[in-house]
Amino acid sequence: MRIKDLGEFGLIKRIGRLLPPCSGDVVVGVGDDVAVVDTGGKHYLLLTCDIQVENTHFLPSVSPYQLGLKAAAVNLSDIGAKGGEPLHFLVSLALRAETSVEWVDEFYRGLGEGASRHGADIIGGNLSHTQGPQVVDLFLTGRVKKEELLLRGGARPGDKVLVTGQLGNAKGGLFLLTQEDLREKLTPERAEALLTALLTPTPRVREGQAIARTGKATAMLDISDGLAQDLLHICEASRVGVRIWAEKIPFSFALEELGQLLGTPPWLLALEGGEDYELCFTSPAEEAEELAEEVERTTGIPVTIIGEVLPQEEERWLVTPQGEERLLSPRGWNHFREAKDGS
Ligand SMILES: [Mg+2]
Repeated sequence: MRIKDLGEFGLIKRIGRLLPPCSGDVVVGVGDDVAVVDTGGKHYLLLTCDIQVENTHFLPSVSPYQLGLKAAAVNLSDIGAKGGEPLHFLVSLALRAETSVEWVDEFYRGLGEGASRHGADIIGGNLSHTQGPQVVDLFLTGRVKKEELLLRGGARPGDKVLVTGQLGNAKGGLFLLTQEDLREKLTPERAEALLTALLTPTPRVREGQAIARTGKATAMLDISDGLAQDLLHICEASRVGVRIWAEKIPFSFALEELGQLLGTPPWLLALEGGEDYELCFTSPAEEAEELAEEVERTTGIPVTIIGEVLPQEEERWLVTPQGEERLLSPRGWNHFREAKDGS
């Protein structure tokens, strides 16, 4: 069997089975946004790493400053998604010999800014030569008060599903990056907003901490693979189903304009879009509105209730703006199966 036959998530599960048993201090191993270790005291230690590969995650033409900011953001986002506080970065780079030293300077300027915005230090790493694509691999530690840790597996039937910010902007940015004619048709400041969302996303670290502090959330993750895919992660880890209301999914005016140009409903772009780095979380129905208001008040970032958690046997559903119920697949619309009862 080849990796492409198994897929990323299948491969992660397989690796998980290959690993020797963990020691007693490991609270969460493979399978969440971060690993969680109990080192004693009031906090858990959080550990995460994320790789950026040239031509896979970034184009050679991207500015090294933006790449540094983004590499920091994707790691910070995973710590924030557990309600945690980022602490220390280690940085591994594989660089081609002909890369300019100024490129490295600019990369570290972006990385340094991204880290210091969230109080994290850069404390080491290593360098390697490569003849192939350049690679940026970051490792980040963090900590969270034990009682505030939020994992993917805590959602319960009856909970509401909430998200921070607006979804789909990064996917919109990807359209603009790969189709220049589209970029020229969009209002310039809206095109800029979509590209910024893709190239320098804002990790919701303070928002994640604010959500965790309320004590009203039950599960959380960051939306790195797209809402549809990441909801599946919560459903699998929590052993629940879900119903999402398409008309509640928050999106920007910029995405709406792009959707008109593409002939695609913006909610669909928001449902499928990856790399938003917003947070998706759950909360008991009677506490969800209060939680949303509290987080909006303390962070200034909008929080929207977009769905509800169902028992696992009721599966995963999307209610379209026309009121049709469709089975929700990891890839959103294109891979939907037929709706039950033909509805
Ligand atoms: Mg994550």
